[in-house]
Amino acid sequence: METFKDKVVVVTGGSRGIGKAIVEAFAAAGAKVTFTYRSRQEDAERLAAETGSTSIQCDQCDAEQIIATVDQVCEQSGPIDVLVNNAGITADQFTMLMPTADWEKVMNTNVNGVFHWSKTAMRSMLMARRGTIVNVASISGLVGVAGQSNYCASKGAIISFSRALAAELGPKGIRVNTVVPGFIDTDMTATVPRDTKRRSLERIPLKRFGTPEEVASTVLFLASDAATYIVGQTIVVDGGLTSTGG
Ligand code: NAP
Repeated sequence: METFKDKVVVVTGGSRGIGKAIVEAFAAAGAKVTFTYRSRQEDAERLAAETGSTSIQCDQCDAEQIIATVDQVCEQSGPIDVLVNNAGITADQFTMLMPTADWEKVMNTNVNGVFHWSKTAMRSMLMARRGTIVNVASISGLVGVAGQSNYCASKGAIISFSRALAAELGPKGIRVNTVVPGFIDTDMTATVPRDTKRRSLERIPLKRFGTPEEVASTVLFLASDAATYIVGQTIVVDGGLTSTGG
């Protein structure tokens, strides 16, 4: 069903993992999708060709590049209907040993990037008097994970930022919500030690990790007309992990 026929959708970090599944799902639903990536040009070009979407190299940490990308999308496709702030990184280390550069890299990519994207894209949404933003946080923003203080802080910030943004933009008819994935099978989790994975699996009521498609379907639901009264919410997609106390 072409639920998003001709809607202008932008997905950050769409070349792999969860972002890729989001791009595929919106494209299958008829949207005009543009997605960004950082360095994996080959992956990005392949996905763009397969889905009929557009890929643009745009670094989350560069506000000027973000402004230029939003301008390009608006010129080529029109006002942005849906922004999905998905791009994110980890750089795990115990705080005592964490290089300042890794703290800054994670905050710049995960938090500052979401701020710049939202601020820039909302101009086009405000002028068009329509639009919705879905931010991708993490259960690490809800619970404390040793060795992830930078990532936890960044994802907690996204959850709070989204609520504040929802309060600012709701009166203008623009909805903002957050999706909070648990343990999802992607490159990001591929490097997690086998023992840590086994222990996480034991705590997940569904006894399996999630798929990128299961996160994508939640993103599409929140961006769709099936969710027109859902605003400022944090929807957890974690197979029940945090419902049991994490
Ligand atoms: P992933 O497989 O590592 O993919 C990350 C994506 O973000 C790639 O497309 C990458 O582009 C892009 N990206 C990274 N840094 C960027 C930058 N500086 N500028 C532009 N793009 C950048 O990650 P994932 O697992 O799909 O995660 C996607 C989102 O879900 C992230 O926000 C992550 O924190 C969140 N999340 C993931 C999980 C999980 O278990 N996987 C759980 C909770 C939340 P390149 O391909 O060019 O590198």
